[in-house]
Amino acid sequence: MLYQRSSALFLEAERVIPGGVNSPVRAFKGVGGTPIFAKSAKGAYVYDEDDNRFIDYINSWGPMILGHAYKPVVDAVIERARLGTSFGMPTEIETKIAELAISMVPHIDKIRFVNSGTEACMSAVRLARGYTRKDKIIKFAGCYHGHSDAFLIQAGSGAVTFGTPNSPGVTQGTAKDTLLAIYNNIESVKALIEANPNEIACIILEPVAGNMGCIPPRQNFLQNLRSLCDEHDILLIFDEVMTGFRLAKGGAQELFNVKADIVCFGKVIGGGLPVGAFAARNEIMNHLSPLGPVYQAGTLSGNPLAMAAGLAMLNELNTDTNIFDRLAEKTKYLHEGCSKVLKNRNVTHTINRVGSMISIHFAEDEVVDFTSSAHGNNDRFKTFFHGMLNEGVYIAPSAFETWFLCDALTYNDLDETIKAVDKVASSL
Ligand SMILES: *Cc1c(COP(=O)(O)O)cnc(C)c1O
Repeated sequence: MLYQRSSALFLEAERVIPGGVNSPVRAFKGVGGTPIFAKSAKGAYVYDEDDNRFIDYINSWGPMILGHAYKPVVDAVIERARLGTSFGMPTEIETKIAELAISMVPHIDKIRFVNSGTEACMSAVRLARGYTRKDKIIKFAGCYHGHSDAFLIQAGSGAVTFGTPNSPGVTQGTAKDTLLAIYNNIESVKALIEANPNEIACIILEPVAGNMGCIPPRQNFLQNLRSLCDEHDILLIFDEVMTGFRLAKGGAQELFNVKADIVCFGKVIGGGLPVGAFAARNEIMNHLSPLGPVYQAGTLSGNPLAMAAGLAMLNELNTDTNIFDRLAEKTKYLHEGCSKVLKNRNVTHTINRVGSMISIHFAEDEVVDFTSSAHGNNDRFKTFFHGMLNEGVYIAPSAFETWFLCDALTYNDLDETIKAVDKVASSL
């Protein structure tokens, strides 16, 4: 494949945008080479500026669960745009999507819309702190909750109680309130709670981790977190920005039958437009401004175009009773196909999968947390990534990302993908 126009566009972009991109992972830093520029997309395919066609397993990092340029969503946006694109006044459509989201997701009474997953998680933590009147939060290594200061924390060597910031610009003061636990390791959480009695406002996690590859929660991990939270008056926040409206109508809460106190949304809920949201039961949500003292706001929050896209998307997901099973079936088929060809080629690998989220790790051992995910062979991943690209399959340009399947994928596409994996594996 040739990427002449993409390469030229990237050079131009680099002059005026830091790194040529508006979100770092797009820059291909993790895999080398220059990013390909998207021109258009339809269904399961994305087309680049050189008119190459790719089967797309990123789907805009999750939102396009029904495929690109999905007609009911596109029509809703166009229709809505004709009426004006923003008012800074309440609109009926905000209530419509709120009602629908609340009817689909368990344990939530009210929802507030924002513009991104980052904003949703940031606001959810502020709300949890305001509600519990406690300052510290627990997050898990390898879980991503957006780029707000409190989340950009990793344990420095020897630092168990006090995290150290892993981005310049995040202050020690912020870092000290974020405690870092190990995913799928309930003992690491217990230790933090014991070391910080009555100080922890919330535990935030991805109920299925999707930002260190796809990592399912171990049996009872979520239930045990729920019990710990109940015991210690800590709020449990499910960051369902990735899993919400993807794993089930009600997201991970429904799939694993565990109740969260606050739930964060993004990605699918906006149907491809910039939307995030957070939701909880009345008692908690009523602490939010203007009802309560916890401040949160947004000029473009609940933007009518974004709400129209989100509402059309949720409507489809709500009425298509088979959608999540269908997606899971396709993902299972892809998993089994890839396993088989990688095994035949003697390529050491581990594949993780939950619903329509899947990741291939070039690692021997089980991948259950950040450390085991980081053990994967990154050089091998780079070769694999570029090989797949060359075969017309676009996967995330990082070994730490999940592939997302969309409903537009046919079994033919999946077979083509498995064939590509086989071909690329022969040269690994
Ligand atoms: C993508 C993501 C975010 C951040 O959402 P943005 O819209 O990129 O700000 C937060 N949490 C999780 C789990 C995500 O996958």
